[in-house]
Amino acid sequence: MLEEHLGQCPYCWEHIYFEIDLSIENQEYVEDCQVCCNPILLRVNSNGLEVHIETAREDDGF
Ligand SMILES: [Zn+2]
Repeated sequence: MLEEHLGQCPYCWEHIYFEIDLSIENQEYVEDCQVCCNPILLRVNSNGLEVHIETAREDDGF
Protein backbone atom coordinates (compact mmCIF):
# COMPACT_ATOMS: atom_id res chain seq x y z
CA MET A 1 0.00 0.00 0.00
CA LEU A 2 1.64 3.20 -1.15
CA GLU A 3 0.70 6.61 0.15
CA GLU A 4 2.14 10.02 -0.61
CA HIS A 5 3.41 12.04 2.32
CA LEU A 6 5.09 15.40 2.53
CA GLY A 7 8.63 15.70 3.76
CA GLN A 8 11.22 18.45 3.65
CA CYS A 9 14.41 18.24 1.69
CA PRO A 10 17.43 18.86 3.99
CA TYR A 11 19.33 20.45 1.13
CA CYS A 12 16.97 22.86 -0.61
CA TRP A 13 14.20 22.90 2.08
CA GLU A 14 11.48 22.33 -0.46
CA HIS A 15 8.51 20.28 0.65
CA ILE A 16 8.22 17.27 -1.59
CA TYR A 17 6.04 14.18 -1.68
CA PHE A 18 7.51 10.79 -0.91
CA GLU A 19 5.75 7.56 -1.76
CA ILE A 20 5.67 5.62 1.49
CA ASP A 21 5.00 1.90 1.71
CA LEU A 22 2.73 1.67 4.76
CA SER A 23 3.04 -2.09 5.02
CA ILE A 24 6.52 -1.59 6.48
CA GLU A 25 6.51 -0.17 10.02
CA ASN A 26 10.01 1.19 10.21
CA GLN A 27 12.19 1.82 7.23
CA GLU A 28 15.21 3.82 6.21
CA TYR A 29 16.19 4.46 2.66
CA VAL A 30 17.71 7.03 0.35
CA GLU A 31 15.68 8.87 -2.24
CA ASP A 32 16.85 11.63 -4.52
CA CYS A 33 15.18 15.01 -4.08
CA GLN A 34 12.81 15.75 -6.96
CA VAL A 35 13.89 19.41 -6.89
CA CYS A 36 17.66 19.50 -6.29
CA CYS A 37 18.47 15.80 -6.96
CA ASN A 38 20.52 15.38 -3.79
CA PRO A 39 20.27 12.05 -1.93
CA ILE A 40 17.89 12.37 1.02
CA LEU A 41 18.09 9.88 3.84
CA LEU A 42 14.53 9.03 4.83
CA ARG A 43 13.45 7.42 8.07
CA VAL A 44 9.79 6.45 8.10
CA ASN A 45 7.77 5.19 11.05
CA SER A 46 4.22 4.11 10.45
CA ASN A 47 1.75 2.44 12.76
CA GLY A 48 -0.94 1.98 10.14
CA LEU A 49 -2.70 5.20 11.14
CA GLU A 50 -0.02 7.84 11.28
CA VAL A 51 3.14 8.25 9.29
CA HIS A 52 6.13 10.07 10.67
CA ILE A 53 8.88 11.07 8.27
CA GLU A 54 12.33 12.28 9.19
CA THR A 55 14.77 13.50 6.59
CA ALA A 56 18.50 14.00 6.80
CA ARG A 57 21.44 14.55 4.53
CA GLU A 58 23.01 11.32 3.47
CA ASP A 59 26.43 12.33 4.80
CA ASP A 60 25.04 13.52 8.16
CA GLY A 61 23.03 10.45 9.12
CA PHE A 62 20.54 10.73 11.95
ZN1 LIG B 1 16.14 19.27 -2.50
